[in-house]
Amino acid sequence: MFPRAKVAVFVDGCFWHSCPEHATSPKANAAWWADKLARNVARDRQTDADLRTAGWSVVRVWEHQSASDAADTIEAALWDALSS
Ligand SMILES: [Zn+2]
Repeated sequence: MFPRAKVAVFVDGCFWHSCPEHATSPKANAAWWADKLARNVARDRQTDADLRTAGWSVVRVWEHQSASDAADTIEAALWDALSS
């Protein structure tokens, strides 16, 4: 979190947050998992919406992204937030 710039940063796990590149569906209890993971994603989007309503920028990086990739994304969001 960067409270002065109001930028919230999340690092989302590929499995738990259904990354488009690495999402997997467990075969055992498939329906339960599909529901559980869909609810995680829905909660992520709700969190994003709540934060944006409160005036925050939301940055999400995937756990598979490199640290320098993630840093670039966060830096860009901070510049945006501080210059707006
Ligand atoms: Zn991933």
